[in-house]
Amino acid sequence: MRVGLDIGGTNTDVVALDQLGQAIQSLRVPTGLGASTVAETAEHAVRELASLIGCTVDDFESVGIGVPGVVDPETGQVRHAVNLGVDDLDLADPLARRLGVPVRVENDVNAAAYGACHLLELEGSAALLNLGTGLAAGIVIDGQVSRGAAGGTGEIGHIPVDPAGVICSCGQRGCLETVASGAAIGRMWPTDAPIAALELFDRADAGDVCAVEVREIFATGVASAIRVLVLTVDVQTVVLGGGLSNLGDRLLDAVTEILRRWENGSAFLSSRHLPERVRLLPVALHAATIGAALIGATGLGVPVSLRSPAASLD
Ligand SMILES: [Zn+2]
Repeated sequence: MRVGLDIGGTNTDVVALDQLGQAIQSLRVPTGLGASTVAETAEHAVRELASLIGCTVDDFESVGIGVPGVVDPETGQVRHAVNLGVDDLDLADPLARRLGVPVRVENDVNAAAYGACHLLELEGSAALLNLGTGLAAGIVIDGQVSRGAAGGTGEIGHIPVDPAGVICSCGQRGCLETVASGAAIGRMWPTDAPIAALELFDRADAGDVCAVEVREIFATGVASAIRVLVLTVDVQTVVLGGGLSNLGDRLLDAVTEILRRWENGSAFLSSRHLPERVRLLPVALHAATIGAALIGATGLGVPVSLRSPAASLD
């Protein structure tokens, strides 16, 4: 069995895959914040999963972990995971010693991109555009996660697109993340509703002029991010993931409508076939945990095309 963890700011999800890549058991535990507590959460989650399955940790052949922040998969070092309260954490080796199982660590968006390629059976190159509180992309080229020189591949949320825009959390002005993210919707559509994005889309569908305008700004930002990914890396597929992808077809429709509008004004853009490259990650697919499990098992640099059949929790 191969185990994958997705450590988020609120919860840690863990899954066990069998030899065929099928999910056989999963579990969610609350994430404790701070370096030592995050490591304890990971260990606890793996042990808890073993006890749920009725096996021992020794029955696990590998553990892969997706975690936010700057991750060095070679050393297992995690830095600047702000929403975990982690500045610097040596996660892989100490955990491997405690569990007695090989542990690999990867950035969570990269793990989700890898998992999405596996689950959606995508060949060639693909990007997962993670629409969460922030905005970032994981990029897989020819079956391998692209990391860049310093682990910063896919940080497209901090590409400035509006010189007159608001100041971003990164200190620049008018970044993509200031219009195309959960935080951006929260700022542009202040509400007491539990899910601001859902209320925004509901109100826009009902014809509220302000809501239509905010949805347009948001969807244009997402479309811009897709355009950046296709024009820089020429990925065959851009998968919309992250919490906002729960908006489903309404998100996909709003974004593709803008891409088609752009195509009408540009023969060049039209030749790139942007709308046809966009897909939605189905809500039920736990791309980050499954991607982490596969990365943990295959190690670095093994193409995703050598994977086992598609896994599912359903
Ligand atoms: Zn920024």
